[in-house]
Amino acid sequence: MTASSSSNQQKGSYSIARKRMIQEQIVDRGVRDQAVLAAMQKIHRHDFVDDALKAQAYRDAPLNIGEGQTISQPYIVALMTQSLKTNKDHKVLEIGTGCGFQTSILSELAGKVYTIERIRGLGLQARKRFKDYGLRNIVMRVGDGSKGWEEAAPFDRIIVTCASPKVPERLLEQLNIGGVMVVPVSQKEGHQNLLRITKTKEGLKTENLGECHFVKLIGRHGYRQDREIKRKDSLA
Ligand code: SAM
Repeated sequence: MTASSSSNQQKGSYSIARKRMIQEQIVDRGVRDQAVLAAMQKIHRHDFVDDALKAQAYRDAPLNIGEGQTISQPYIVALMTQSLKTNKDHKVLEIGTGCGFQTSILSELAGKVYTIERIRGLGLQARKRFKDYGLRNIVMRVGDGSKGWEEAAPFDRIIVTCASPKVPERLLEQLNIGGVMVVPVSQKEGHQNLLRITKTKEGLKTENLGECHFVKLIGRHGYRQDREIKRKDSLA
């Protein structure tokens, strides 16, 4: 077998796995927004993980991306994206770029995406992926996303892909009236709920989309960085 025929075979098997993932993990669980499904088809999850994990890229699970962080489960990415109800007129802020998979999905649906990652190595890798994919409507910066991105605010949509200890007031201040935020918020010990918060002139409308499990939002308005993480970051 030549190198090119084996690479075509590989692409074919990713394509079959991706189609199954969309049907069985996403559509069958109730995510039916056609634009979201098209973006999940177009952006290839195996491009966002290390070579050693590519064969597992279409599994129904989060995967390790290094630095103690994860790429979210495909269903959660699709659910959060659908719940955000974004369109090409929207300016979106994402907190927690990670490997950049969710950012890339959003870039297909929104006008412009601002994204913040606190771990430099992950942020730089993600930026390279955006370039390789030709996604030009993404601006990424490395920093503490719990403070938001004041210079670029207000935003029409905000998505937080790490768990906040409380409803993030600072980010809500940077959301337009009529805007929507999707955010995992920690509740009792070990439990988190995925919330959709709509900001109206009259106040906030909060819907609980269900239980979830995310890594922590670490920063000034999030959790404190523990010693172990601090040590790893200083090595990065
Ligand atoms: N969005 C990713 C995807 O496509 O699968 C998943 C992101 S991962 C679950 C959460 C990310 O949030 C991690 O990369 C973590 O470093 C980042 N993070 C945690 N606290 C942060 C903060 N204060 N500001 C920016 N990023 C933060």
